[in-house]
Amino acid sequence: MSFKSIAIDGPAGAGKSTLAKKLAEQLGFLYVDTGAIYRTVALKVLWEKADPSDPAQVVPLLEGLELHMGYDSDGVQRMYLEGEDVSAAIRRHKVSGAASQVSAIPEVRAFLLDLQRKLARENDVVMDGRDIGTVVLPDADVKIFLTAAPEARARRRLLELEQRGEAANYDAILHDIRERDRQDETRPIAPLRRADGAALLDTTQLNLEQSCDRLLSLVKEKIAL
Ligand code: C5P
Repeated sequence: MSFKSIAIDGPAGAGKSTLAKKLAEQLGFLYVDTGAIYRTVALKVLWEKADPSDPAQVVPLLEGLELHMGYDSDGVQRMYLEGEDVSAAIRRHKVSGAASQVSAIPEVRAFLLDLQRKLARENDVVMDGRDIGTVVLPDADVKIFLTAAPEARARRRLLELEQRGEAANYDAILHDIRERDRQDETRPIAPLRRADGAALLDTTQLNLEQSCDRLLSLVKEKIAL
């Protein structure tokens, strides 16, 4: 039996996780948030007080890394590090920057590649990240490049942080988004770019419902559901 895969890539804050999760629910596919996996590696690096930008400090931590994914009864992905549920901790602001730094290290990417491919071999998946359509699942049944203007992404992130009760500042968020875009787009390995054959979905002018509808229709154009 062959499984179907939908690859969704795009920059930080474009709404990938929200939309991918909804799409997975609608289709009954497994949702795989690969950013959460990179974030978990980054959290380990921070726990060890190592420098996330230094491969010499990060790579030795991969060996013996106790990282697990699980799903709760609502199908929501949970991340575990050394047995501890770190699903909330990895969302902290500090971890975002560190995740972007560790994800530029080739050994980290190679280490996570097998894990991601195995999930797609064994399940129908909606997988979101930065290099899913280009590197992880180049033969995905559907590839989407989801983006939005940096200002729109910063406004959404601000709202999200405020709703979680975290102190947040629009200018600082916009600056961070631009910096993460730059890091993700210019790194030599698996840079963020639109994969060959990926449909472009720009959500700058769309609300959540409109974005969901558009995404579902792009998917329906490619696979019979
Ligand atoms: O998507 P999210 O913001 O959670 O991802 C955190 C960081 O992990 C990103 O800034 C990106 O650098 C990295 N990442 C990656 N490849 C992926 C998913 C995430 O490099 N497939």
